[in-house]
Amino acid sequence: MICLVLTIFANLFPAAPGAAQERTFLAVKPDGVQRRLVGEVVRRFERKGFKLVALKLVQASEELLREHYAELRGRPFFGRLIEYMRSGPVVAMVWQGLDVVRASRMLIGATDPADASPGTIRGDFCVEVGKNVIHGSDSLESARQEIALWFRADELLCWEDSFGHWLHE
Ligand code: ADP
Repeated sequence: MICLVLTIFANLFPAAPGAAQERTFLAVKPDGVQRRLVGEVVRRFERKGFKLVALKLVQASEELLREHYAELRGRPFFGRLIEYMRSGPVVAMVWQGLDVVRASRMLIGATDPADASPGTIRGDFCVEVGKNVIHGSDSLESARQEIALWFRADELLCWEDSFGHWLHE
């Protein structure tokens, strides 16, 4: 009975058409770039079925990083975190797709690689929280802010995706 009600509900109120348009901000951190993990990260997000809408190699300024990590300003590791993120180029990206913010966090794994499950990026490629290879937005609101901080609007490409029919109902 519950299944029947849920099925009827799902048919009456299908996923919002904009749901597959959700976007998130990802960055391969300097250790990930140095360790040649950019291709591996891109491969995992492509393979999952997400769509790349922006990508660039950036030497981030201290000002940008302080704003990006503003919420962590009071934490004891804040200074080290800014230095780490300034220690080399990062690959900044925007990815789009159904529930992409939440799904990205699953693909990335827990903040501390020691807690990250095998099969996740942090679980597979790193051992220490201070060198955890990748950043991914943790909410829709932070995704919106981070995309606006790292990219100009004209750097985000809207391109026709002939693949979407094979991913979504
Ligand atoms: P996440 O990156 O998983 O969203 P947080 O927003 O809590 O996690 O932290 C931002 C980044 O700060 C982490 O990815 C990591 O690089 C760094 N960090 C977090 N906790 C520590 C810590 N205890 N020591 C050193 N660096 C840390």
